[in-house]
Amino acid sequence: MSHADKTNRRPRPTARATALDVTRRLQKAGFTTYWAGGCVRDMQLGRSPKDFDVATAATPDEVISLFKRTRAVGAQFGVILVRQAGHDIEVATFRTDGAYADGRRPTEVAFSTPEEDAQRRDFTINGMFFDPIAEHVHDFVGGQADLQAGLIRAIGTADERFEEDHLRVLRAIKFAARFGFEIEAKTWDAMRAAASKLPRISPERIRMELEAMLTGPRCARAAQWLAECSALDFLWDGAAALREEWSRRVNVLSLLPSESRSFELALAALLHRKDAAVAADACTALRCSNFTTDRVAWLVRQQHALDAPDALTLADLKLLMAQDGFEELMQLTAALHQVDGGDKRRVDEIRRRAAAIPSDEVAPPPLVTGDDLIKAGLRPGPAFKDALFKVYYRQLQNEITNKAAALEAARRYIEDS
Ligand code: ATP
Ligand code: MG
Repeated sequence: MSHADKTNRRPRPTARATALDVTRRLQKAGFTTYWAGGCVRDMQLGRSPKDFDVATAATPDEVISLFKRTRAVGAQFGVILVRQAGHDIEVATFRTDGAYADGRRPTEVAFSTPEEDAQRRDFTINGMFFDPIAEHVHDFVGGQADLQAGLIRAIGTADERFEEDHLRVLRAIKFAARFGFEIEAKTWDAMRAAASKLPRISPERIRMELEAMLTGPRCARAAQWLAECSALDFLWDGAAALREEWSRRVNVLSLLPSESRSFELALAALLHRKDAAVAADACTALRCSNFTTDRVAWLVRQQHALDAPDALTLADLKLLMAQDGFEELMQLTAALHQVDGGDKRRVDEIRRRAAAIPSDEVAPPPLVTGDDLIKAGLRPGPAFKDALFKVYYRQLQNEITNKAAALEAARRYIEDS
């Protein structure tokens, strides 16, 4: 027996076991307590939930007094994080949302019952509760029937629900695409009516929904819905310009391999043939990370350059291969060429050429550096950088193969400048 075994360490409880424990404790203290929302939906679909949200009749103060380690995260909404066994379990008091002043958030909430709490949730499939002790689903909104029928349906009066929170337009599309569901007719009409109000929603929240739908399954279907309900025109300032050739953009998106479809690659597919600056502006408007913005702009810019791949020299190819985005660029280019009439050979040809280059020749250290030039008696100046790049380019072309030749070429470039 190893030392570790002797210490009798048990495996860490899962999030599910921990949420069960938290629920049991609350029920024992006399508070009606269920699991709520996404996890109830996912369990009924046979999917494993991302996290387990607990909803309870206990007030935030009562939750805090029952558990050792708690943190009030959304105190005004009655949400307490219970930290246990390395998991943060969200425990929210059953509540009714008051009036929505700005199409984003309720101005006040009141603690209430499970029935009323269900009414404030967005879609019927997200509005159910599950008692994990009694193993019973409490469905006050017809969620089970809609799960069976494969329908996204707003709880209550659809128009009012999208008027309260416009982000739900994007959430409806996200869930419909994720589960391969249809959107119920009244819900759809209400989405079309509310779509133009999306600019009132923070760009970060819009981006998060967009990222989820573009990296999830059936992203092309999601993209079509975006255009059909006109949400596309209001995703960011300038997004409406993508309507031009939208079905082509969606086709490119649909041809990207699903297992490696990053948010960046998907955005580049939707923004292809636009200026790289336009692509970067879109990302900035959506408050994307610098990484995302740079990658999308790079992909769009390089895709333009690859439109004439015959002109791609050995050095050009190596410079591209040295970039992290190279594989994504190949995937984007393959999808583009397929949409343009099936000439996949051009990409295969680039891949074949790339595969033939030994890995240590892709980005070799330069034969000559700025220090070498200074040591050779040249005075540092603006021409240095340009000359060094020209020499390096010829090194990558296998035209310059040793240091003496590199130094000589650099000297000539600087003298000629
Ligand atoms: P996911 O698996 O993507 O996390 P989810 O259903 O858990 O899906 P969350 O955004 O984590 O979605 O929200 C948890 C629950 O809170 C939802 O199931 C829904 O009941 C409710 N909810 C979340 N956002 C809204 C909203 N904008 N309007 C109304 N109810 C919402
Ligand atoms: Mg969730």
